[in-house]
Amino acid sequence: MAAERVPTIAITGSASGIGAATRARLERAGAQVIGVDVAKGQEVHADLSSAEGRRYAVAAVLRRSGGALDGLVASAGLGMDGADAAAVVSVNYFGVRDVLVGLRDALAANGSSRALVLSSIAVAIYPDIAPQLVDACLKGEESSARELGTACGSDMAYAASKLAIARWARRAAVTGDWIGAGIRLNVLSPGITDTPMPARALQDDGRAAQLGALPIPIGRMALPDEQAAWAEFLIGEGGGFACGGFYSVDGGTEAALRGEDWPTPCQAQPQNDLYRLATTGDSP
Ligand code: NAD
Repeated sequence: MAAERVPTIAITGSASGIGAATRARLERAGAQVIGVDVAKGQEVHADLSSAEGRRYAVAAVLRRSGGALDGLVASAGLGMDGADAAAVVSVNYFGVRDVLVGLRDALAANGSSRALVLSSIAVAIYPDIAPQLVDACLKGEESSARELGTACGSDMAYAASKLAIARWARRAAVTGDWIGAGIRLNVLSPGITDTPMPARALQDDGRAAQLGALPIPIGRMALPDEQAAWAEFLIGEGGGFACGGFYSVDGGTEAALRGEDWPTPCQAQPQNDLYRLATTGDSP
């Protein structure tokens, strides 16, 4: 009988929190994990805040994987804890996008693979996310996005970079380069999860008050392993029909604050193929 192939999965941010919990789950399930982190102790030691660090990370993962990956979980991120706003933009948007793009061919190599981006509950509940910052990210303008991030402050930089990367991933997911190449790309949006990230935010009185005021109907923060379970599912066989999805796992926070806003019915737009199909039966 042929030996079962061991899947190879790259995880950024694998040294801590959700990334580390995902690593533990995947290794228990028998995967070979290539961890990437600015913290030491993972297979690839790289700083995803710079283009050079991202190029190094991609090259090192390609070397270790032999150019073929079964999965990628992009969990590395800086949080709403007073981190430098420009670095927040670079790590949370460009650090995720460039690693995904740089490893796309490796994800396409086996004909069927999965990629997961970690966004955040912040995209649904942070007020008035700066559209110029989201646009600068999506246009790939890193230096102006960093300047806008600095002008807006690190909390806004966090929310905007997490919104931009979710949009980028959902746009890419349905294209020939991604699903057309057999890569299922999805977005996980955690609510407050008990990792060093909110622990750092809680050290600041203002941020602690904001976090304390957030409704969490389940009555507690998520455990990192509860997010990792979703990550494992979405990059595993169970998530086989998921493509371009945005999955909120937040203990009810978003439903408590925005329950009436989603699902949103499609606006009637006569130029919209779906509208024509629904009203006339014509094929698009
Ligand atoms: P964490 O701080 O425990 O882990 C983040 C990891 O990213 C760390 O290992 C860190 O070293 C790494 N990292 C940071 N900057 C890096 C850089 N420049 N280059 C390479 N690696 C870098 O945080 P976490 O809670 O596990 O968060 C994981 C992901 O989930 C993040 O993207 C975060 O924004 C998102 N998220 C977390 C929460 C939460 O409440 N914990 C909520 C929503 C979204």
